[in-house]
Amino acid sequence: MQKSSYEKKVLLYSGGMDSWLIDKIWKPDVKLYVDMGTKYSQEEIKRLPADVVVEKLDLSKWEREDKIIPLRNMYLIGIATNYGNEICLGATAGDRVLDKSPVFADIYEQLLNYLYQKQHWTEERKIKINLDFKRYTKAELVRFFVAQGGDMDEAFSSSFSCYTPEHGKECWSCKPCFRKFIAFALNGYPFTEDIIDRNVSYIRKEILPLIESGTYGRKQEEDEIMQVLSFYK
Ligand SMILES: [Zn+2]
Repeated sequence: MQKSSYEKKVLLYSGGMDSWLIDKIWKPDVKLYVDMGTKYSQEEIKRLPADVVVEKLDLSKWEREDKIIPLRNMYLIGIATNYGNEICLGATAGDRVLDKSPVFADIYEQLLNYLYQKQHWTEERKIKINLDFKRYTKAELVRFFVAQGGDMDEAFSSSFSCYTPEHGKECWSCKPCFRKFIAFALNGYPFTEDIIDRNVSYIRKEILPLIESGTYGRKQEEDEIMQVLSFYK
């Protein structure tokens, strides 16, 4: 039987390191980026691979100071159902928001399957929200990618998500930079002394106090951070 046009794997592509790696490992049929009209959208769009589909849904009005857009993934998955039945959120173990949680995925799947039951305008569709990559940290994704023959330098240069770039270069003293540092340091990436110093200082100043007070809230990632700090004592 011919595959229905909706029997496709859709990856919600953010442009960050997670989505780049998940694309290489999971091999979706469609990569979908939704332009939410935020301050970063234009920068992200410039860096997207050519085969990423771009849709527009302006949610910028609801973006808070902390960059959270309430219900973001509910909207994005809703749009993604127009491209295929299996939808993967580029979520990894460090993500804490509830609209990437297994409970959310379960309830929302039920709702979508209710709405996509057979009726006058549609055949029955079964939607699946895939959160398989939530079990893994960024470091583990890098490891899988390299294990399947991927090039670590390519993975390294494919992502850029620094909050405060200096002359177009990563600052290595912000949240996304240090998380990228951890992921690659654990895979033996040859960082320069200067980059190691910047990251270690940042982690000691900004992240270690949160881990020590029990408010960082990302167990797997905490273990990795402590491991990296012990390398570079
Ligand atoms: Zn940075």
